[in-house]
Amino acid sequence: VAKGRSTGVAGYDPRDDVNTIERLALLGDLRRALSNDELFLVYQPKISLTDGALGSVEALLRWRHPVRGMVPPDKFIPLAENTGLIGTLTKHVLDTALAQARTWMDAGLPLNIAVNTSARNLHDEEFDRTVRSLLIKHGVSPSTLILEVTESALMADPVRATQLLERLHAQGISISIDDFGAGYTSIKQLRNLPISELKVDRSFVQAMEQDEGEELIVRSVIELGRNLGLTTVAEGVETPDALVRLASFGCDIAQGYVLARPMPAEDLDRWRAEWRGLPTV
Ligand code: C2E
Ligand code: CA
Ligand code: CA
Ligand code: CA
Repeated sequence: VAKGRSTGVAGYDPRDDVNTIERLALLGDLRRALSNDELFLVYQPKISLTDGALGSVEALLRWRHPVRGMVPPDKFIPLAENTGLIGTLTKHVLDTALAQARTWMDAGLPLNIAVNTSARNLHDEEFDRTVRSLLIKHGVSPSTLILEVTESALMADPVRATQLLERLHAQGISISIDDFGAGYTSIKQLRNLPISELKVDRSFVQAMEQDEGEELIVRSVIELGRNLGLTTVAEGVETPDALVRLASFGCDIAQGYVLARPMPAEDLDRWRAEWRGLPTV
């Protein structure tokens, strides 16, 4: 029993029921949101620290609830993950993101696109076929797509996940390890995975920005990635100073509010037209 909780029956806290009802309500709403067009994607630039070029964007899901307003993904993605709705949700995100990639292609402004996946997707034997049929549906080359896979999702069932990633990689899709450093992937495991990119967890980048002494982890992860021949990405970069330091560590790509916030496709098109390269490096 948690400290400071008023519990009648041992282990029972009426607030848990409220939470459960609240979660069930939200889950019901989420199912409807899928068919009601309440979900949309925003895109955040991933920018080269070498030449300031826009190489790709990460698609991030947004939910505009008719009553609650904007519900953050940290709140509804875990719900979807716990119930199996995540399969449908990821498929919807992929479908939307690839349609957008096709639009950029047709406009003569092709852009690679990164889509987030969940542990459940990696345990779905059909997932590689789902991705393939969506690529075909939109006439988008597999090399346009980057799938971001968190370290924790991989580690839930490394053998099965690795087999699936191998099949996706064989199709020509790039795999990126997200939130790296927060989990326990060993160097040996990393070497055996068909990955091309390592994203340093945001918490380490932010610690580095707040305290000069905190840059060791970021440097180590970047070095590890480089030694393995991977592209390294720092996410959640908020200060120009951090951009300069990350570049000096040999980090390849930066993503963060200091460069650009995640934005709807129309805003991104405007941002792209006005982008003049890195401010400080
Ligand atoms: P993530 O994949 O690690 O995504 C990066 C998060 O950092 C995004 O939060 C982004 O908006 C935020 N961010 C980017 N730059 C900065 C910065 O400079 N400062 C700060 N403080 N934050 C920054 P967001 O969009 O709220 O998404 C949160 C998480 O929700 C994502 O973390 C990802 O795990 C999950 N998520 C979002 N969209 C999807 C999706 O389509 N599918 C799945 N499975 N998960 C998603
Ligand atoms: Ca991500
Ligand atoms: Ca991340
Ligand atoms: Ca995260």
